[in-house]
Amino acid sequence: MEFNQKGTKEDILYWAKRLYQKNMSPSTSGNISLKTDKGILISASGTCLNDMDENDVVLIDYNGNLIEGNKKASSEKIMHSEIYTKRDDINAIIHCHCPVITAFAVAHQEINKPILPDFALFYDEIPLVPYYCPSSIELAEAVGKYFEKYNVVLLKNHGVVLGADTLQNAFYQLEMIRAYCETYFGAEVLGGARALSKKSVSEIKKLYIKK
Ligand code: 13P
Ligand code: ZN
Repeated sequence: MEFNQKGTKEDILYWAKRLYQKNMSPSTSGNISLKTDKGILISASGTCLNDMDENDVVLIDYNGNLIEGNKKASSEKIMHSEIYTKRDDINAIIHCHCPVITAFAVAHQEINKPILPDFALFYDEIPLVPYYCPSSIELAEAVGKYFEKYNVVLLKNHGVVLGADTLQNAFYQLEMIRAYCETYFGAEVLGGARALSKKSVSEIKKLYIKK
């Protein structure tokens, strides 16, 4: 399927497949959404992100009510709508249980060591949201609160949530974080992941501002 720049059902299907195929969202875990003029387009509950078709993407309003479609919207729909309500600049959200990223959430460790320039450019830390039952209002509200300050958070013993301007950028950011996690674990096995110096980190951030 062609990638469509406009933010449509096709985008959701395209990026959902890429998420699954990179093992970022195994089995039927995870959900993705897009803000549109009419409401929120979101994956249906219980679907495998690799195997969705048009009927597995539904339109909901910001209270989670179904506007278009025959399937039940993702059980994390209120979490998605809390984020959109708080953040005008976020148009796309991915929630997934990418194993290598989720390992940090299970170890109760923030991702915060500037071991790679691309990570240091975008993030100082990816915080840990306390554990709440998946799909609960409590989780949705806690995540919404974190998104007042962050674009990506770890959910303790659960997964990760990331918001961006487009699904394409959300996917690329998540892929970069996943690469960070894999590199981190490899480096730890080889004797320890060493951080960039404060000077190197500020150099990278300045370079980006100049662009
Ligand atoms: P849904 O299948 O309802 O979207 O839920 C998957 C999930 O990851 C719950 O946290
Ligand atoms: Zn989940």
